[in-house]
Formats: sequence, C-alpha cells, structure tokens
Amino acid sequence: MSEATTEITTTFTDLGLSKPVLDALKKVGYETPSPIQAAAIPVLMTGCDIIGQAQTGTGKTAAFALPILSQIDAKLNEPQVLVLAPTRELAIQVAEAFQTYASCLKNFHVLPLYGGQDIVNQLKQLKRGPQVVVGTPGRLLDHLRRKSLKLDHLKIMVLDEADEMLRMGFIDDVETILSHTSGEQQTALFSATLPEPIRRVSQRFLTNPEHIKIESKATTVDTIDQSYLMVSGMGQKMDAMTRILEVEDYDGIIIFVRTRGATTELTEKIIARGHTCAAINGDMSQQLRERTIDQLKKGKIDILVATDVAARGLDVQRISHVINYDIPYDAETYVHRIGRTGRAGRLGKAILFVANRERRMLQTIERTTRKPIERMTFPSSDEIATQRKERFKESLLEAMSETPKPFFDELINELTTELNCDAQQIAASFAYMLQKERPLEVPPEPKHKARDRDNRRDRDDRRDSRSDSRSDSRNDRGRKDNKSREPRESKRRSGSKVDANIAMQTYRLEVGREHQVTPGDIVGAIANEADIDSAYIGGINIQDDYSTVELPDGMPKEVFNHLKKVRVRNHPMHMSLMKGDKPSQDSDGPRKPQKRKAPSKPKRK
Ligand code: AMP
Repeated sequence: MSEATTEITTTFTDLGLSKPVLDALKKVGYETPSPIQAAAIPVLMTGCDIIGQAQTGTGKTAAFALPILSQIDAKLNEPQVLVLAPTRELAIQVAEAFQTYASCLKNFHVLPLYGGQDIVNQLKQLKRGPQVVVGTPGRLLDHLRRKSLKLDHLKIMVLDEADEMLRMGFIDDVETILSHTSGEQQTALFSATLPEPIRRVSQRFLTNPEHIKIESKATTVDTIDQSYLMVSGMGQKMDAMTRILEVEDYDGIIIFVRTRGATTELTEKIIARGHTCAAINGDMSQQLRERTIDQLKKGKIDILVATDVAARGLDVQRISHVINYDIPYDAETYVHRIGRTGRAGRLGKAILFVANRERRMLQTIERTTRKPIERMTFPSSDEIATQRKERFKESLLEAMSETPKPFFDELINELTTELNCDAQQIAASFAYMLQKERPLEVPPEPKHKARDRDNRRDRDDRRDSRSDSRSDSRNDRGRKDNKSREPRESKRRSGSKVDANIAMQTYRLEVGREHQVTPGDIVGAIANEADIDSAYIGGINIQDDYSTVELPDGMPKEVFNHLKKVRVRNHPMHMSLMKGDKPSQDSDGPRKPQKRKAPSKPKRK
C-alpha cells in the first residue's frame, strides 16, 4: 500500500495527463492536484487496478476522471468507461465533472443513468454512443439485462463511494454488474472506508490493486478558536461572508478558496461591500504576491483571498481570522490554513464553511485534529446592528475628544433656532446622514427566505436521493414519476405571451438575487435597451449570483453587444449565450438597437 503525503509538490503536468485535459484544467482554474489526485492519477495512467481510500470533498472525482479522459478514444462511440455511483445526485455530479474536464476534447459524450428517469429517453441517449456512462447500480443492471448497455469495449470500470453502495444495499447489484464484464478492464474502487464486504469485492474483481490512502499528520492547534457554519449554495456563502465581515472584530483576515478564479471573483465582491481586499493565487508572479502580502502586513489592505498554494508559509502576525470559504481537501491542509492565524502567541479565530455534503470532511478534520469544532449560528441582523452601533459609538467618542467646542456649540445653537428643533433631533439627523450608506438600523434578514428555500431544497434533494435509491434498489419496477424528477427548468415567465412556436435562446446574466435583481428589472433593462417588446421576453430564472433569460432566436449581433454592457440595479449584466445554445446563423445583422421598434422577426421553430 502506498501512503500519499499531503505535501503539495506535484503539478498536473507532472502526472502525464493529455493536453486537452490539461487545457481544461487551466480553464477551471485548479492550481495543483489534491493529495488523492497526486497519488491516484499516475497509477491509473499505468493501467493498474486501484483502491483509493478517499471521500467526497477530497477531489476524488477528478482523481479518476482526469486519467480516464486522458486515455479515452473519443473517435469510438461505444461505452469505454462505466462509473457506478450510489445516488442520483452523485451520478449527475460525476457526469458533470467529466463534462467539465472534457471541455477541450472533441466528440466526447458522457451519459448519467439513474432510476426515476424516463427509460425511453435513456435508450435514445445510449444509442448516441457515449464513451462514459455514469449510473446507479439498479438502473445500470436494468440496461445490461435489456442489452441496451453493452460492455464489449469497456476499458475502465470505477466503483465510486463503494461503502455507500454497500450501506444502501446495492452491493449484490454491484457484484452482478461486475460479473457482466469480461474482467479484462482496469478497475478502480473508491471508498472512504473498507468494510469486509468491500474488501471481498476487491479481492474477487480487482487484480493486484495498488492501495492508496491519504496519511494525515494533522495535529491540534490550541491558540485558535475554531468554529464552523453550515451553508447551502454559493449565494448563502456570500451572504454569510458579508455578515461575518460585519460582526467579527478583525484585524487581518485570510479567506481560503479552491481556485484562482474564485480568488478574484470573491475579492471583487468583498471590495464592492466596502472592505479593503486583494487576491493572491498561483497565476501571479512571486513579486506581485510578495507585494500584496506586504500591503497586508502594513495594513493597506485587511483581507486577502488566497488559494492554498499562494498562501503557503505565509506569516503575517496581524491575521486575526482565517475563513475557509471552500472546505479543504484534507485535515492537514485545514491545519496548515488555520495556522496562518494565532501567530506569535496571539489568539486567532478560524471559521469553516461547511455544506451538507461536506459534513464528513468536517468529522475527519475533528477526528484528526482531536478537537471538536463548534457550530456557529448565522450572524443575525440584530448582531450586525449591535456591531454597527458599537463602532459608531467608538468613532463618536473619538470625534468628541477632537471637536473644537465653541465653534460647534454656536452652530448647534444657530440650528436649533433656525430649524426650530431641539439638539436631540439635530443629533439624530447627523447620525442618519453619516450612516446613510451603512444604516444603524438593519432591516430583518432579507435572505431568510432564500436560506429557508435553500435548506428546503437540501432536504428535498436528500429526500429525493433516498427515494431514488429505494426506487433504484427495486430496479424501478413500474415507477415513472418523471414530473418530480425533472431537472428544474426555467419556466415561461408568468404573464409572458411568447408564442410557444417561436424559437428561443437562453442567455446568462451575471446578476442575481445577491444583487436584489427582480424579473421586472431584467425585463425592463432588456426591453428598453434592446428595444425588444416585453412580450418577446420568455422565461426568467433568477439564481443567487446569476440569472437566465430566454430571448427570441436571431438577435442581431449589435443588439447583443449592446446588451452585454447594460447594467441592472447598477451591476453590469455581462450577458452571454448559455453553453449549448448556438447563435443563429442569421443573427449578425448590423442593426443598431433602436428605440421603440419591433425586434428582428423571431424565427418559428
Ligand atoms: P470531489 O471530492 O470530487 O467531490 O471534489 C470536491 C470539489 O473539489 C469539487 O468542487 C471539485 O471541483 C474541486 N476540486 C477537485 N480537484 C481540485 C483541484 N485540484 N483544485 C481545486 N479544486 C478541485
């Protein structure tokens, strides 16, 4: 068994991955392989069987997807790879990850197959010849029995979250599927734990597997107060971040994220909320990184958003807080991250954002550091108001000691007489004027609804996952509850009179709930700026940090270019065509957007 150390030294290029895969990784912005990736990819590239002991959140999907994609024959339209996943959610997630890592690979198809989905559609999709099939055991077995899924060209088989499949009662199905294979293929088994039945499966179906386990050398950190916050969805993470920055009494903060892109995106959002912040990531030259860290040391900025690589060894005494915006891959990285605070004997505070599916990583961290991490509550509007008042009082006290009395006494006297009011009224108005941008009276949480909905969605997903697994274990006999299982789709906007026969395209706008954008704002902006009659504006779907809108196919290029620059609620909407929606061939008419004119004639389907 080889034990991977968590020291991050290898690069993706060192791992022998193909060029299209390396190009895709550049696009997603991953800087370095996670420990499980650094250890598993070279083994999978040699064609050996492997047992990888890793759980969700360690980057295990890429650990098998990247070497698989590096070796796939994209010209052969036959299933070459079969991935078994315990739940519908995981199957979809894994299929999406394959799609992302294959973004620079031509003619690549991945197909998720799970119970509860319309089988007729699955049969149609299978005929298109996907190279990778990701599915839940019950449904895969169904297709194998119908002979709609053939494994004649199978090169690699992956059992993902094997212990979960065991726990959910799928292990017999897994074994049956494995016995349908020729046994010639390479087999990879990923599991957080290795209970006896899983060991037996590996002994029966894997040939001399290389066993990879991440060794954790994490130790306890005593000078750091550690807590975690449950978050659901990107929007809530940003909401939590905003509130924490308001209520925490900080000197310097380091926020850890996983990708280069996230460092800059988050930095922009934090600056927009009135804080001094900069990003450091592996894309920046050493000189620029050092200059940025120096700014933090000197107090020119207070917040740094960093990737693990960029913050390695960083030693700045004034860092009072470390915020793990994205959970780390392993306990050792966590300990390294939080060790950026509590320097030189000072007390530090570490906050960890945990999504529901990341709970296991939280437990791993607690187990390895041998220290419970306390759950913190979402900072409330009341707490924010209290903090604002405290800070206001402090600055008022400071100003009192500096105020030239006689002049201002006279001014107040003048004001009370002229405005016919008392000094208290004047003081109240001054306070209001001063705090107009950051009111001392904070309205009740506007995002409560969103949070409740997110939580509900989480619960629904989990419920779905459970019922899905149940239906899957019964091989979905006679169950076609398609309605509740369809992916959430953008609905035609209520009141939208778009003729169903008009061909529409979906556009993405980089504004969403976080920017307090409503469907009305979007309709208004598009109708006015592109001179499109609102009756031609279709479904609008508002997400936390982006939205989508359906517009008639054939939008003139100039109108599109103009719309890209339009602002909604003072935020640029940066309109773009959604992936998969190709611009129409005749959408390049050199027409300028004109006021109050009908749009170019929408095409009929
Ligand atoms: P997984 O353990 O496969 O569920 O992955 C957890 C998360 O880590 C996913 O959101 C991935 O997109 C992300 N991820 C995986 N590998 C890397 C990497 N090398 N660098 C940054 N993020 C990664």
